[in-house]
Amino acid sequence: MHPAERILLGPGPSPVPHRVLRALSAPTLGHLDPQYLTIMDEVCEMLRKVFQTKNALTFPVSGTGMAGMECVAVNLIEPGDEVIVCVNGVFGTRMKDVMERCGATVHALETTWGDVFTLEQISAAFAAHPKSKLIGIVHAETSTGAHQPLEGLAAIVQAHGALLAVDAVTSLGGHELRVDDWGIDAIYSGTQKCLSCPPGLSPVSFGPRALARMDARKTKVQSWYLDVSMLRKYYTGGGGGRVYHHTAPINMTYALHEALTIVLEEGLEARIARHAAMHQRLRAGLEKLGLGYIPKRSLHSLNCIHIPAGADDATVRRRLLEEYGIEIGSGLGPMAGKAWRIGLMGHGSTVRNVDLVLAALRTILGR
Ligand SMILES: *Cc1c(COP(=O)(O)O)cnc(C)c1O
Repeated sequence: MHPAERILLGPGPSPVPHRVLRALSAPTLGHLDPQYLTIMDEVCEMLRKVFQTKNALTFPVSGTGMAGMECVAVNLIEPGDEVIVCVNGVFGTRMKDVMERCGATVHALETTWGDVFTLEQISAAFAAHPKSKLIGIVHAETSTGAHQPLEGLAAIVQAHGALLAVDAVTSLGGHELRVDDWGIDAIYSGTQKCLSCPPGLSPVSFGPRALARMDARKTKVQSWYLDVSMLRKYYTGGGGGRVYHHTAPINMTYALHEALTIVLEEGLEARIARHAAMHQRLRAGLEKLGLGYIPKRSLHSLNCIHIPAGADDATVRRRLLEEYGIEIGSGLGPMAGKAWRIGLMGHGSTVRNVDLVLAALRTILGR
């Protein structure tokens, strides 16, 4: 097995620093070893800093970003609950599917892929469905590159006694994201996007209103593996100390520890500013090549552009991979064959990578 050193500029995974890969190879401890518990506590503390929250219940779910989505859904929804899900891309569509599988009646608030939702649209959705107990929304819709503003949303949601659940898989560690200031009740992310860690863990955080909702459940959480009432005893030591639930992915926890250390060494603000600057640099270069963006409000971590007339989608991506070792993403769902997605996430968001992908595209497209 000899995997190549690719330059990962797709929708994830992002490039992983050697420091993080080395952390993966440290000796495996037992999951109840005091040394390991210290490492886990430090991971949770660093996650609170990166999420900008004081939520005690902040921890990495064992599994990728989708496990975080399922974890938030199964713990906060009971069969028969009405919920609103904002659908403007693949991940909103998945959230709707996941919540329906929890037995929810989902009211989908839809807009054109590539667009984002306004506070007025969300207010109107609550007015139409006042019994909704939760709203799910994607902060960074990786399928379209659209950046959803979240400020001001919590006031509307709380006025209806509902919870605000956010998908921050492609924004955590790369975009401004203030869980407490923005009144987010439940949030999940992934390790392999702007945190630049391999895929395998899903950081989540639950606020006090979400905890109260879980504590008031009349039915058992459908998923044994993702039941937070049991998981919290291991991750926070609450309710009688640390007890075995499942074997935490020890070495992945080391990797996340190192990845979060790198985030905090750089400084969250500096890291977010770097993602903004690299996005601007790429955008300026793409515009010179005549390549335009699909979303009006683009993410910094994911650039979704129109495939220009005359260019063959698969050929261009194959040449980028074979000749330059660069991976970019294709369009998903209705955007298949129409869009390219260039990720500038975490360790991959650098001047070198931006200039390299621009030079490679210029050559391949013959511009
Ligand atoms: C990548 C992604 C997910 C899913 O994460 P996996 O790690 O692939 O399970 C969910 N939501 C968004 C917005 C994503 O970009």
